[in-house]
Amino acid sequence: MHEKTLAELSAGLAAGDFSSVELTRHFLDRIERLDGRLNSFISVTAEQALAQAEAADARRAAGEAGPLTGIPVAHKDIFCTRGVRTSCGSRMLDNFISPYDATVVERLDAAGVVMLGKTNMDEFAMGSSNETSYYGPVRNPWDTECVPGGSSGGSAAAVAARLAPAATGTDTGGSIRQPAALTGITGLKPTYGRCSRYGMIAFASSLDQAGPMTRTAEDAALLLGGMAGFDERDSTSADRPLDDYLSGLDAPLQGLRVGLVREFMENDLDPGIAAATQAVIDELKRQGAEIVEISLPNVHLSVSAYYVVAPAECSSNLSRFDGVRYGHRCEDPRDLEDLYKRSRSEGFGAEVKRRIMIGTYALSAGFYDAYYIKAQKVRQLIAADFRAAFEQVDVIASPTAPETAFRIGQKTDDPVSMYLQDIYTIAVNLAGLPGISIPAPQSGGMPTGFQLIGRLFDEARLLNVAHRIQQETDWHTLAPEGF
Ligand code: GLN
Repeated sequence: MHEKTLAELSAGLAAGDFSSVELTRHFLDRIERLDGRLNSFISVTAEQALAQAEAADARRAAGEAGPLTGIPVAHKDIFCTRGVRTSCGSRMLDNFISPYDATVVERLDAAGVVMLGKTNMDEFAMGSSNETSYYGPVRNPWDTECVPGGSSGGSAAAVAARLAPAATGTDTGGSIRQPAALTGITGLKPTYGRCSRYGMIAFASSLDQAGPMTRTAEDAALLLGGMAGFDERDSTSADRPLDDYLSGLDAPLQGLRVGLVREFMENDLDPGIAAATQAVIDELKRQGAEIVEISLPNVHLSVSAYYVVAPAECSSNLSRFDGVRYGHRCEDPRDLEDLYKRSRSEGFGAEVKRRIMIGTYALSAGFYDAYYIKAQKVRQLIAADFRAAFEQVDVIASPTAPETAFRIGQKTDDPVSMYLQDIYTIAVNLAGLPGISIPAPQSGGMPTGFQLIGRLFDEARLLNVAHRIQQETDWHTLAPEGF
């Protein structure tokens, strides 16, 4: 059953080939047997999952099932889940049992989705390798000495190793797409505002967005339809109707204009990544797409702008974790200041502290104009570059990540080289656009990713292009040995 895609599982449930309880047991059993090698889950909610599965089967028997009813999914541990520990990969929230569900979780639950558990992640979603988690690193099923990417590395590893048919993730600068690339799965970051951020623990509020992590684009379309939509509890959520992401999947690509980003293709691009990108471009051409070289003249500023904006917002968002209302509190504080200092010192890991310090500095009086305001201006320039490019093309293509999965520990002492993992993905968040990563041909036996970027709210088109590529190629069907 674990070889099947979400779409196939949905059809199998509808045909009565197996029940949701059988399906859920199968995946819980795989998690128990195999996750010791990966560490992709922080919490496995077996009992609750089986109860949800039973309810889903009853709903189906009553003739009230939808396409996602009875499908098991894992949630990144950044989404609040009622009655279940929601740690965000941090010691700070190790003891936090959420009193409510995030909107994304609530919607999927209402559709009948079964939650298998909560997946490991970089602490507060800060990282590109899943090594900053309080719960230890996640391993890449393609090579367990290597990282799965981050920050949604647990979700990526679980889907790649077939421990879950699909998972949710979040992407602030690349955290859905880069781990999808490094583990050989499909990951979609929707337009900012498409999925509600309510109940999704905030890292950088103007950039964070939830999305599906699946094996195929068709599955991403199915899951996005269950996650997305307006939510009055999130003031940045977009009040516009959802597209039907499934109906346009098969549209032919004849005449599609695909922009290839000149700036991404020239600067010392890794030869294996270049070849993988070219192979997907060739497939697009074969299907009648027209490839146009485009320029994003300010895109080289995106990592620098992001590492001002994201830490600034994180320093503000994380100020609520003070050891008073919830989360970690130090033992025997001497006074209030000692309580704050020690609770935060003990609760946060090194990378989170680094971000809080950078962000507090960038927002402080005297530096605010020089850093934060400047970064916001650069952000506008980058968004304008994309707007100009989309006058010429329908979608934009690039590699997802600059290299294949690296070894655990290889970059831990060099934060800047870690930050450069997102060199192709970060601009998309700064501009609020949707982006998808799909598997491209492997390089050196390890997965690579191909990124497609769309106009605002043009997820349907990205899914269509990705699906058409996957219909004609088999890069997305490869599975890691031993799982
Ligand atoms: N790797 C980037 C960072 O560390 C992006 C993380 C993310 O998208 N959540 O900030």
